[in-house]
Amino acid sequence: MNLFWHRRDPRTRDNAGLAAATRDGTTVPVFVYEPELLKTMGGRQRALYLRGVKRAQQRYRELGSDLVVRAGEPSDVLATLAEQYDADTVYYNDHYRAARRNRERRVDDALSEAGVSTDSRTDLLLVDPGRLDASYPNHSQFHNDWEPVPKRQPYDEPSPDALAQPSDGKTVPEPEADIDLPTPGYEGARERLDRFVDEGLTSYNDSRDDLPQAVEKPARSVSRMSPYISTGAIGIREVWAAATDVYQRVHGRERRNADKYRYELSWREQNYHLLYYNPDLAVSNYKSFPNEIAWRDDEADIEAWKRGETGYPLVDAGMRQLAQEGYIHNRPRQVVASFLTKHLLVDWRIGARHFTKQLLDHDYASNYGNWQWIASTGTDSVDVRIFDPVSQASKYDDGAAFIREYVPELADVPTKKIIDWPTLSYGEREQLAPEYPDPIVDRNDGYERAQRVFEEALGKR
Ligand SMILES: Cc1cc2nc3c(=O)[nH]c(=O)nc-3n(C[C@H](O)[C@H](O)[C@H](O)COP(=O)(O)OP(=O)(O)OC[C@H]3O[C@@H](n4cnc5c(N)ncnc54)[C@H](O)[C@@H]3O)c2cc1C
Repeated sequence: MNLFWHRRDPRTRDNAGLAAATRDGTTVPVFVYEPELLKTMGGRQRALYLRGVKRAQQRYRELGSDLVVRAGEPSDVLATLAEQYDADTVYYNDHYRAARRNRERRVDDALSEAGVSTDSRTDLLLVDPGRLDASYPNHSQFHNDWEPVPKRQPYDEPSPDALAQPSDGKTVPEPEADIDLPTPGYEGARERLDRFVDEGLTSYNDSRDDLPQAVEKPARSVSRMSPYISTGAIGIREVWAAATDVYQRVHGRERRNADKYRYELSWREQNYHLLYYNPDLAVSNYKSFPNEIAWRDDEADIEAWKRGETGYPLVDAGMRQLAQEGYIHNRPRQVVASFLTKHLLVDWRIGARHFTKQLLDHDYASNYGNWQWIASTGTDSVDVRIFDPVSQASKYDDGAAFIREYVPELADVPTKKIIDWPTLSYGEREQLAPEYPDPIVDRNDGYERAQRVFEEALGKR
């Protein structure tokens, strides 16, 4: 008999560790409910994740098995269950965050003392970071090495006779969230993936930055798979296989569009690679600076940014999308993060922590890796990258449909005035939309101050 310990992988399909356990022998699936660990997740994501765990339990019941749920310390719970079910081996999937890896070691040691072996598998990623070099100067060099590594097909769901039939009435709580949640679990994930593959994949690169499209025809925009991937509702091989299947069938521009989606998945892989080799990615600057960065960390600025009241329409639209949906489209995500760390000169860790609390798709590696990239403390080969929030709106929000969707105070303002809002005169702003804030920082002053502070930190001034 084996146990399989579910962690950020509450699913029966395409689960590497579960597939290995059930190949090896009859398996009891287990979920250890750890209230303290769950508190480190944002409330919204926790609600989605726990609903996903419940869906996985339902699936096990449909297969004639059950997910055994116990609260406590994994090392104690798993040792007790191993004894109860007379299990020889506990299988689980690898994690890359340092605290999780330490936890795995504690579990390995406790089980080994109890005479039970452990077996862990690569599941979260298409390519195990240990197969690649330890460091790459930029994403394209990472991609050059990552891309040729063969990606395996999704793992099959175990057959019912490979699963034990424990009878257990316990389940996980379903905390409420302050926003509407997407349909949880594998079914919700697969439904979204199928719709995106049918309607959006072969035009992905052409429309992924088109913000009006994201509000007017969301199925033909980006996939919005991130909440499902980050909570483990669907396996990454399944997402890759769905995109690859189309990629192999289409040609020309459609093929390039589908390939771009696969390329974007490699950013996620690179962030995990970074975390694997740099365990303090969430804590310290990845890049070393000869001088300290003179962060300002102005409380009033930070609060205005969080509320979406900076007087920069695209920034505010992005921050309000985050508040309302627990998600931000990648384009405004970059713009709000750049605005905070450059125009307002607020330390990236403050922004990243706010995202952790608010996002449904929070992913430790991708969140901190991307914040560092945007803050110019990460792997970017450009010394100081500053997004101009005005030209980004003009370029990517044609007709300002995205801004109007999330900033109703500007709904009736002509498009050109919305885009140019931070550069209009005070009087004109008062006349056009008295309810909407004035810019909290001057566009050019903010830009020049950020440039100067970073050049000083880099020792270039
Ligand atoms: C400051 C900042 C913080 C971010 N925090 C997170 C986070 O916590 N969790 C997260 O999943 N993504 C994060 N991203 C990356 C990216 O914004 C989201 O993955 C993307 O917007 C999710 O929407 P989607 O599923 O529709 O993306 P799509 O465009 O449909 O892309 C498909 C998938 O590719 C992956 N992907 C795409 N771009 C990136 C990227 N730059 N880095 C890593 N993976 C990527 C994701 O898994 C995504 O679901 C962050 C980006 C920035 C700039």
